[in-house]
Amino acid sequence: MNKASRPLQQMIMVLARGVSLLIALSVPAAYFFIAHQNLVSTLESQCVITGAAVNSIILSNPQMWRFEEVRLAELLERRAHDGVPQFWTIRDKSGQVIAQSSQVVLQPFTTHRRTIYDAGLAVGQLEVTRSLRPILYKTALTALFSTLLATILFFIFRALPMRLMNTAIHELEESEKKYRSLYQTMNEGMALHKVYVDKDGGFSSLTLIDANPSCAEMFGGNPDAIVGRNSFTLFGDTFREFISEMLNNLERGASVSFEMCLPGKDYFYNVQAFSPDKGLVATLFEDITESRKAEQQIQKMAYFDSLTGLPNRALFYDRIKQSIALANREKSSLAVLFLDLDHFKDINDTLGHSVGDQLLIEVSRRLTGHIRANDTLARLGGDEFVVVITHLGVTLNTTYIAQKLIDSIQAPFSFMGKELHVTASVGIALYPDDGDNAETLIKHADMAMYSSKETGRNSYCYFSPAMNKKALMRLENEIGLRHALERGELFIEFQPIIKAATGTIVAAEALVRWNHPERGRIPPTEFIELAEETGLILPLGEFILRSVCTSMKIWRDAGLPCIRYCVNVSSRQIEQQNFPELVRSILDETGAHADQLEIELTESCLVKNIETNVAGVFGMRAWGITIAIDDFGTGYSSLGYIKTLPIDHIKIDRSFVTDVCTSVQDQAIVEAILAMSHKLDIHNIAEGVETREQLEFLQRQGCDEIQGFYFHRPLSVSAFEELLRGQGEKQ
Ligand code: C2E
Ligand code: MG
Ligand code: MG
Repeated sequence: MNKASRPLQQMIMVLARGVSLLIALSVPAAYFFIAHQNLVSTLESQCVITGAAVNSIILSNPQMWRFEEVRLAELLERRAHDGVPQFWTIRDKSGQVIAQSSQVVLQPFTTHRRTIYDAGLAVGQLEVTRSLRPILYKTALTALFSTLLATILFFIFRALPMRLMNTAIHELEESEKKYRSLYQTMNEGMALHKVYVDKDGGFSSLTLIDANPSCAEMFGGNPDAIVGRNSFTLFGDTFREFISEMLNNLERGASVSFEMCLPGKDYFYNVQAFSPDKGLVATLFEDITESRKAEQQIQKMAYFDSLTGLPNRALFYDRIKQSIALANREKSSLAVLFLDLDHFKDINDTLGHSVGDQLLIEVSRRLTGHIRANDTLARLGGDEFVVVITHLGVTLNTTYIAQKLIDSIQAPFSFMGKELHVTASVGIALYPDDGDNAETLIKHADMAMYSSKETGRNSYCYFSPAMNKKALMRLENEIGLRHALERGELFIEFQPIIKAATGTIVAAEALVRWNHPERGRIPPTEFIELAEETGLILPLGEFILRSVCTSMKIWRDAGLPCIRYCVNVSSRQIEQQNFPELVRSILDETGAHADQLEIELTESCLVKNIETNVAGVFGMRAWGITIAIDDFGTGYSSLGYIKTLPIDHIKIDRSFVTDVCTSVQDQAIVEAILAMSHKLDIHNIAEGVETREQLEFLQRQGCDEIQGFYFHRPLSVSAFEELLRGQGEKQ
C-alpha cells in the first residue's frame, strides 16, 4: 500500500468507528427515550381516566369519599389489571394512602402522579407506577441490534471508502506508471527545472532537477551528468532568452514555445515550456533536426551551387540588390566582376567532365581565398563566376582585386598527376556608372569579360558603352542570320585546290558567304562562331551540304571533271546523333557521288569527339567519302589520333605557310608536317599560298596539293563552273 495513503486510511478508520459507535449508542438511547415518553403519556392518560372515575366517587360523596376505600380499591384493582401490570395508589392531601391496588410492580419502575380536585380544591393524589423492565428489555434488544448494525456499518464504512480509495490509488498508481513509462520512453526530451529566486523575489537562476532518457540523450545519455546543472549553461542562449521572458511573465500563467539549436551541436529542437507548479518549469524538447536539415538542404539547393557550394544566381541577385541598396544609403559605389575561365570548354571536352568539375571546385576555393568576407562570390553556371565588391573607395581597389583573382588561378592545378594551366578573363561593371540594377550590372560585366577575352584573355577589362553597342550588334547578327537562312541571303563560293605537281584542279573547298541586305558581303569568320554558339550552324551546315551536293551532281552530269568537293563541318554538326544519316540522305536526295565529297574537320573537333562521334563520321569512308584535317597544327591536342584514325588529307594551316619563306621556325614546322604525312601516307594540302616563293618551297618539299590566292580566290558558282569547264576542255 502506498505510504501516502496511510493517514487517509487511519482517518477513515476513526470516522467509521465514530459513526458505528454513534449508531450503537444512539439507537437504543433514542428507543428508550421514545418508549419512556410513550409510557409517560400512557400513564398520564390513564391517570386522567382513572382520575375522572375517582372524581365521580368524590362527587357522589364529597365529605366522606376517603372512606370509600373498598370502592376506590376496587376501581384501582380494575385499572391495575388493565393490560400491562401497574400499581395504583390514592393518597389524601396529607399523603396518607387511602386505597391501593394489589399488583406487584418489579423494579425499576416509574411513577406518575395526578392531583385530584374537588370543586377546584386539591383533595388528594392519584399515583400510578409501572415497571420499566419491558422498556429496558426492549432497549437492550434494540442495543443488541443496533450494535450488530453498527458493527456491520463499521465494516461497510471502513471497507467501502477503503476499497474506493484503494481503487483510486491503484488507478493513480497505474496512471502514474503509465506516465512514467511514457516519460521514460517518449522520443521527446522532457526536463524539469527548479526556479531560484533572489532576496527580492526576482528570478535568479534555473537548475535542471530531472530529465527523461531522451533529454539525457541530448547530452550523451547520462542523466547524472546533467541533473543539478544550470539549465541555461546546458541549453544555451536562446533557451535563456525565452525562459527568462517566460519567468518574468509567470503571473500570467505564460507558457512559451520556441526553436533552439543545442550549443556546440548541430541539433535543432522545438521547445515548449510551462510551469507545472510554483517554482518549477517543465520543458519538452521535440527533435526537429531532420526537418530543419531538410529545410536547410532545400534552402541550400535553392540558393547554393551544388558543385562548388558557392551562392548561385538567385542568391547572387539578392545579394547584389542588397549591396545596391546599401551603396545608395551610404552614397558609395560597388563593382561586379564577371570571371570566366579561358578555354574551359576544351578542358571539359578533352579531359572529361569529372576533371572539369574538379577544376571548378578548386578554382572556386582559390577565388574564395581572395575576396573579403563581406564581398560575395557566386557561380552563375559553367565556368562563370561573379563577385560583388562593396564599399569601393577607388577604382584602384577593384583593379587590385580583379588582378588578384586572375593571379590566384595562375598557379598550375594538378589532377591525377597531371598539371593543368588555367587562365581567366574578368569583366568589371561599376555601380552606379555602368548600371543601376543587378541585371544590367551583370550583363555589362559579362560584356566586359568578353572584351577581355577578345583582347588576349588572362586579363581584366572595364565595361564601356561601346561594348554595349558591340553586344547589340551581336544580337542583331543573330537575328539577321536566322533571317538570312530563311531569305536565302547565304551562298557558297568554291576555292580550287591545285595538284602541286601538275597545276590541275583536283578539288575545291566550299566556303559560305552572307550577302547582308544592308552591310553587304559578310565573311564566314564573322558569323560561323555565332552560328555555332546559337546552334544555327545545324540548319546552315545542312544548307551548305545540300547546295554543294546539288552542284556536284549538276557538274558531274554536265561532264565537268569529277574533282573532290571539300565541305567544312563544325563540331556542333557532328555532335548531332544522326549526322552520318543526314549526309546519306542528302547524297541520296541529290544523287551526288560520295567519293567526290570530302569532310573537313578541325583538330580540336576531332579530339573533342574522339570517344563519341568520330567513329560515325569515319564510318562514312566506307561510302567513299574522304576526311581531311583542317588548320592542321593549330589544334589543342596531341598527335595521337593520327596513328589511329584513317585520315585521308591534312591541311597545313595558313599561319605556317604565310611566312614559310622568311621564318626558319615556320619552315621547320611545314617540313616536319610534310615529312610526317609522307611517312604516314597521308595526303597533304597547303592552305593560304599567295606567292610563287611559297609555292616553290612547298613543291620542293613534296607538298601534294595547294590552295591559295596565288592560284585562285574563292569563286562564285558560275565563275568556278567556268573554270572547271575550261580545265575539262583542256584535258
Ligand atoms: P578554312 O576552312 O581554313 O578556309 C580557308 C580560309 O582561308 C577561307 O577563308 C579562305 O578564303 C582563306 N584563304 C584561302 N587561301 C587564302 C590565301 O591565299 N590567303 C588568305 N589570306 N586567305 C586564304 P574564309 O572563306 O574567310 O573562311 C574562313 C573560315 O570560316 C574557314 O577556314 C572555315 O573554318 C570557316 N568556314 C567557311 N565556310 C564554312 C562552312 O561552310 N562551314 C563551316 N563550318 N565553316 C566554314
Ligand atoms: Mg576549311
Ligand atoms: Mg583551314
